Amino acid sequence: MKYNDEESYRFHKNDVLDRCFCCSQSSQRYLIVRHINSNMLVHLCPECMMDNSNDYMLDNTRPWLGENSKI
Ligand SMILES: [Zn+2]
Repeated sequence: MKYNDEESYRFHKNDVLDRCFCCSQSSQRYLIVRHINSNMLVHLCPECMMDNSNDYMLDNTRPWLGENSKI
């Protein structure tokens, strides 16, 4: 079955690549997670993910490429 992958992996319109969606701080690294309310992807710093895990969901359904793809 084919589905619209691009449609499922849009980033939130307020998401910025080098800022945390939640606290707006820059971070050494970001987690790409799904904002549950909007069902859009956002960048979060690890601290915000820990503090707001009810509002965001790790999305591991995408076949990530690169060095992080090994499980
Ligand atoms: Zn944050």
